[in-house]
Amino acid sequence: MSTPATSPVTVIGLGLMGHALATAFLADGHPTTVWNRSADKAADLAASGATLAASVQDAIEASPLVVVCVSDYDAAHRLLDPVAAALAGRTLVNLTTGSSTQARDTATWAAGHGGAYLDGAILGLPQAIGTAEAVLLYSGPKAAFEEHQATLRALGEAGTLYLDEDHGLSALYDMSVLSIMWSVLNGFLQGAALLGAANVKASTFAALAGTAINVTAGYVAAYAQQIDEGSYPATDATVAVHLGGMQQLVQEAEALGVNSELPRFFLELAERAASDGHADDSYAAMITRFRLPR
Ligand code: NAP
Repeated sequence: MSTPATSPVTVIGLGLMGHALATAFLADGHPTTVWNRSADKAADLAASGATLAASVQDAIEASPLVVVCVSDYDAAHRLLDPVAAALAGRTLVNLTTGSSTQARDTATWAAGHGGAYLDGAILGLPQAIGTAEAVLLYSGPKAAFEEHQATLRALGEAGTLYLDEDHGLSALYDMSVLSIMWSVLNGFLQGAALLGAANVKASTFAALAGTAINVTAGYVAAYAQQIDEGSYPATDATVAVHLGGMQQLVQEAEALGVNSELPRFFLELAERAASDGHADDSYAAMITRFRLPR
């Protein structure tokens, strides 16, 4: 059962992200109570109709749904532990970035105080909150999500996604998506450095870089199927062929005097996969190296 669109909500933590969350709840018509360590960050929200709670306990007691978004889990626990009893019968949604272990431990802690707990992850910037670009992932008890999803949808109507009862999954998805983001960005920067050695501007490279990213995205679904099946037929290019290209990339970077650490990492990983017997398999076979500790 979903809450009505005017269900009260509390936001604890009004940094760049928490402020955006509170703004979106207010814009959607929810009676919104806010609290922040530095009270000045609540001033404009109060002017827009939010209630500024005098304490964390007052903030929790104001709403059936309490959203916390602070720097890290230690900060969240420093705020919530002393007033945990107030969570009984309420739902706590933690949108603070953390690990899957922290999420699961916090779920156990919340259950010990009689509160329902959803762990969440925000994929995107504060500016996206409340827009079609916002993607927010939730994991934990489905009943708690369904009870509050009408309110949570104020943060992103289309991008509000429930994952699983396992509280750790939203954090794991978050880390997995960040892994993609930094891999893509580092690849772009490597390319911009190579081209920069020939005085090609990064802005000139940008359009082709975007095309390359889209082409690469096209590989994902087929490789995912191979990974799930544990079978890596090379219908496009073998690991050995990729290896040859990586050797060229390393040599080019070194010859131009630009950083070659990233190409070297690619090369060493592929060499190990090849020596494991995957030289004639597709690139998806590299998963066997990623599954191992360093
Ligand atoms: P931020 O602007 O630096 O704000 C940090 C917030 O945490 C502030 O409200 C701060 O209070 C509070 N805080 C930190 N330590 C505290 C403590 N010991 N006691 C009480 N309050 C404390 O960070 P943000 O960008 O809002 O990020 C918040 C969370 O959202 C992080 O986990 C971040 O990873 C996640 N996130 C952010 C983005 C983004 O693009 N910004 C995107 C996705 C996820 P004060 O105002 O009093 O300092």
